[in-house]
Formats: sequence, structure tokens, C-alpha cells
Amino acid sequence: MSQTASRTPIPAVDGWFELEPEPALIGARCVECSTVVFPPPSESTPCPNPRCASDRFESHRLATTGTIWSYTDAQYQPPPPYIPTTDPYEPFALAAVDLADDGLIVLGQVAEGFGVDDLAVGMQVTLVIETLYSDDQHDHLMWRWRPEGDQS
Ligand SMILES: [Zn+2]
Repeated sequence: MSQTASRTPIPAVDGWFELEPEPALIGARCVECSTVVFPPPSESTPCPNPRCASDRFESHRLATTGTIWSYTDAQYQPPPPYIPTTDPYEPFALAAVDLADDGLIVLGQVAEGFGVDDLAVGMQVTLVIETLYSDDQHDHLMWRWRPEGDQS
């Protein structure tokens, strides 16, 4: 993670995660049936639960740990809005993480320094915030999944 004092850290996507008091993804929970969705839905989006007619949600901080449900490496450079951080493009690892408490699977890039060889289905991971890319004024932050060291 490269940061200088002259740059302001800002989320690369607005409203999907927060840094304070602890880094966490921000989803939404249906006020009728408690179904949790991520990313947070826009106004008047219907509840994804087919048995629920509600379109009202409240903000909900997601669990910051989960287990790897599946993973892959992105061998092809994703289209915009993805911004390549290396030239030439270097593949990176993506993990789909099962947040058991929230009943959700959330995709994310794996933390810096980890690749697909470091991953396994069922492995415990923790949410971390890292710099996705930097420009003159800002470090653009993104959530990533960091494999936990003590695997058994
Ligand atoms: Zn609902």
C-alpha cells in the first residue's frame, strides 16, 4: 500500500463501504423480511426475496470475515471502470466470500501479495481496505479479502 501525506484517501466507489469506525462493507437489510443485499440498492428497488413485496431497506454493516466460497484469477484485463494498475496488465486473484452471518456471497479482489496459489475453498478471510490506484490528489481505496494466516 503506497500512501503519501499529500494524498487524501477516498473510497473508489461511493457508499459501498466505510472506513470508520472499522472498515466494513455497507449493504442494506429489508425492513420486512431482513433479507440482506449488497451493494446497497437504489431507491424503490424491490426486495430480492420473491415472497416479500417490500422495497424499504435500512443500512446494514456486513460481516468483515467470511470463508472463500470460490476463487479465480483475472487473466484478462477487465473493461472500464476497471483501471489497470500495472502496465503491462498483471492477473490478480478474485475471491467470492461467503458471509455466513449475512447469507451473502461478496466478490472482491484478494489483498496485495496474495495470489490464487494462496487460496482454498473454505479458507477464512478478513476484509481489508487497500489502495486500488492513486492520482495526484487521492488514494482511491477498495475493499479486498485477506487470507488469514492460521489455517488448519
Ligand atoms: Zn424483504
